[in-house]
Amino acid sequence: MSIVKPASKLTPVLTDMWDRERSWNLESYRANGGYEGLEKALKMERSELVDMIKASGLRGRGGAGFPTGLKWSFLPPDDGKARYLVVNADESEPGTCKDIPTMMANPHVLIEGVAITSHAIRCEHAFIYLRGEVVHVYRRLMNAVREAREAGLIGQGVGPNGDFNLEITVHAGAGAYICGEETALLDSLEGRRGHPRLKPPFPAVAGLYARPTVVNNVESIASVPGILRNGNEWFGAMGTEKSKGHGIFSISGHVKHPGQFEAPFGITMRELIEMAGGIRDGHKLKFWTPGGSSTPIFTEEELDIPLDYESVGAAGSMLGTRALQVFDETTSVVRVIARWTEFYQHESCGKCTPCREGTYWLKQVMLRLEAGQGQPGDIDLLLDVAGNIAGKSFCALGDAAATPISSGIKRFREEFEAGLTTPARELFPYEASSVF
Ligand code: NAD
Ligand code: SF4
Repeated sequence: MSIVKPASKLTPVLTDMWDRERSWNLESYRANGGYEGLEKALKMERSELVDMIKASGLRGRGGAGFPTGLKWSFLPPDDGKARYLVVNADESEPGTCKDIPTMMANPHVLIEGVAITSHAIRCEHAFIYLRGEVVHVYRRLMNAVREAREAGLIGQGVGPNGDFNLEITVHAGAGAYICGEETALLDSLEGRRGHPRLKPPFPAVAGLYARPTVVNNVESIASVPGILRNGNEWFGAMGTEKSKGHGIFSISGHVKHPGQFEAPFGITMRELIEMAGGIRDGHKLKFWTPGGSSTPIFTEEELDIPLDYESVGAAGSMLGTRALQVFDETTSVVRVIARWTEFYQHESCGKCTPCREGTYWLKQVMLRLEAGQGQPGDIDLLLDVAGNIAGKSFCALGDAAATPISSGIKRFREEFEAGLTTPARELFPYEASSVF
């Protein structure tokens, strides 16, 4: 695991403990102020807590940036029956690597966030849905839940008044990208094949077992204890007016020191690349992604755009998961997009025709362009198929598959045209690029 590098613009909050000895232990977490936020929260009225998170400006860290407190407030009035919190820990977006290191290095910040959120929405059974491949994270979370329970922080009849009840179930999925989509995740958690559900109703109204459910990303929930401990003013002093606070930016690819950098929203890619030691020696930036493979690709031109939801949106992309993948001039755009397209085709759940059939055709055309065996009209064909997927699919996966293709052609059309005659491996030998 890479450790946050010292630099003036960093704001280590969630990453603060990552390089401390046995940072994942309850003892270490408590020695650093852990569970003080829960203590405070349990003395507060539920509505007061929801209002506080609303006023903090915390927005969903899973990609969409939906206001967290507002989502909590969408739950219908309490009827005394079950209501759930489900933490989306199915981190799968290519290039995204923030939730898994958070849960490995500091699982208790998530458990504390789960407990505070559960108190706010009166949930007595919370779930953490984890992707199945990360068995080491599963063990670590299970251990943290056990520690919290043994310490009387969660369980039955705990808290200062003995009336706080909370069970936490850690559930490992089978490793499907679509199960990161919140309603497919709920289907999977209920024991069915993960297929997105029609929205509305949103999970806040009818979620797990058709009961009101808050689904939040790991980083969103893990950000809650810090806000409780330090207050809204502290949180709002970081970031921009509408994208407040700290966020973990994952930088991978052709930089000298890839890793996770926790910084205020609004930091620029130029600053982050600098913190990551710059582009590897002797090379220069060719393109990068602001939010994994699901967002349009950016180039040198966008290096100074503040990385907040509004500015990246105004530049025609989405901030998404802050998965900043960096590619230098040795990289074939066609090859990279062909790998992403194979991924989307493989992960398409097959529920709707535009995505199921469209991703198959996108993959066929991308593979022949990569092999230098493209056919006349292939670029128009790609744009046509992508246009028939985007906005016409059942969930965001379809849009995500179409986006890199249309933006890749817009920025690097000549490389796609070269694919009619020349294999990408001749134009960009594998040996030159360490990424693909
Ligand atoms: P969305 O904008 O449809 O919804 C965001 C959240 O707000 C959801 O929880 C939704 O239930 C809630 N919401 C929206 N409107 C609501 C309303 N009127 N009432 C109640 N709740 C409402 O986005 P989405 O499809 O859930 O997620 C797409 C995002 O997921 C993309 O931005 C992408 O970056 C991200 N993503 C993340 C990963 C990862 O690994 N973390 C993987 C793939 C995609
Ligand atoms: Fe499934 Fe793709 Fe349709 Fe989403 S867009 S429902 S992943 S087939």
